[in-house]
Amino acid sequence: MKAYLSIGGNLGDREQNLAEVCRRLREHPQLKLTKESSIYETKPWGKIDQPDFWNQVLEVETELSPLDLLEVCQQIENDLGRERIVHWGPRTVDIDILTYDNRVYKDERLTLPHPRMEERTFVLAPLREIAPEFILPSGCRVKDVQGDGEVQKLKTNE
Ligand code: ATP
Ligand code: CA
Ligand code: CA
Repeated sequence: MKAYLSIGGNLGDREQNLAEVCRRLREHPQLKLTKESSIYETKPWGKIDQPDFWNQVLEVETELSPLDLLEVCQQIENDLGRERIVHWGPRTVDIDILTYDNRVYKDERLTLPHPRMEERTFVLAPLREIAPEFILPSGCRVKDVQGDGEVQKLKTNE
């Protein structure tokens, strides 16, 4: 099955943290990391006295169930968070499952597709880069939808 993940963070070494997520996904025996977008920088809005977010979208192929994939993502979040922060607080990385095949799923652990993906430029811009023909849950093509917020492409992933 093909799934898209949104990864991001604004604490610690952001480049290193995103790279570490990719490394761990690549090492997982039941996952294949098939595409990686460039890294996009997003200005935080509202509470602006915090570092900018770095975001990326990844395409993975996996035989894991959606819940098992979520568990893998949460394990990586925990592992990376634990290394750098002692107290509860903002995480070094957030990993969200945007879509899993065309599955619709909803319980307290997991909602598919991710309900806020179409509002967020930091999701849409990198998704558009790696999957321009992608049809969003609303039925629109990702290349036709803008979303809210400003992003800047930082590191091109050649
Ligand atoms: P947002 O979902 O608006 O981006 P967030 O990522 O900051 O917010 P978290 O605190 O990381 O929210 O996640 C809260 C819970 O959301 C997680 O414990 C997870 O079980 C649940 N969840 C529901 N749907 C998804 C999904 N598609 N991908 C990842 N987590 C999800
Ligand atoms: Ca999120
Ligand atoms: Ca999350």
